[in-house]
Amino acid sequence: MTEILLDVKGVSKRFGGIYANQDVSLQVPRGAIIGLIGPNGSGKSTLFGSICGYHPIDAGSIMYEGHELKHLRTGEIARLGLVRTFQQTHVYDEMDCVKNMLISRPMRKGDIRTLLHEPTAADRERADELLEFVGLASKRDLLAGSLSFGQQKLLEFAMALMNEPDLLLLDEPTAGINPTLINGLIDRLRQANERFGVTLFVIEHNMRVMMNLASQINVLAGGRLIASGPPKEIQNDPRVIEAYLGG
Ligand code: ADP
Ligand code: MG
Repeated sequence: MTEILLDVKGVSKRFGGIYANQDVSLQVPRGAIIGLIGPNGSGKSTLFGSICGYHPIDAGSIMYEGHELKHLRTGEIARLGLVRTFQQTHVYDEMDCVKNMLISRPMRKGDIRTLLHEPTAADRERADELLEFVGLASKRDLLAGSLSFGQQKLLEFAMALMNEPDLLLLDEPTAGINPTLINGLIDRLRQANERFGVTLFVIEHNMRVMMNLASQINVLAGGRLIASGPPKEIQNDPRVIEAYLGG
């Protein structure tokens, strides 16, 4: 039997009078790579924000490993092993890549005070391993702000892995990345899943990427979940085609 790692039930989120998410229910099994797609403005990033505690939800429940997340703050959620990356990158421009990695080291095994201590040799080793893993080893001493947008996304991916997540939410990981690098990035996402055992929940607008990566795809349109199933089914679902073409 597959264990449900993340269980989203009936989640609604309003901004002013507009429902960004309305009664959304979906599940992410442990060990899986699950997709989330939908036209622009359909509420994908909002759902990630709700899951990670960036804003309170108006209705529903978000269970993760036995914890109700809607009562928790972002830091508490990260310490449970649930980490996200952003559509727009969140790296520290004025720090070099290694420093960006080191400030991302996990606090969940200790507490906030670990950040006040010097990184250990093991922290430094892991930072370099992960920079190597995403193909940024040669950039380790460069300021993050000097990297291209695509490289910053790779750095952000490595920083997220530095947190030792169990569940990683990736918001459009290939957006802005040079098409020739996309296959390499997909390989790394898959390796993170297989080698490090990280469960992935991925927003991606590139359908080819999504079809290759995810075992199940959830589709949002106008804030509502309109379809959920394996890629082949989703690809041919008239509701999904209508949502993309009709919008
Ligand atoms: P997607 O990621 O699918 O493109 P979003 O979740 O970013 O969609 O946005 C869904 C809807 O919610 C849009 O109409 C957007 O304008 C609105 N929205 C998102 N964030 C905010 C916010 N912080 N304040 C007000 N409206 C927002
Ligand atoms: Mg978005």
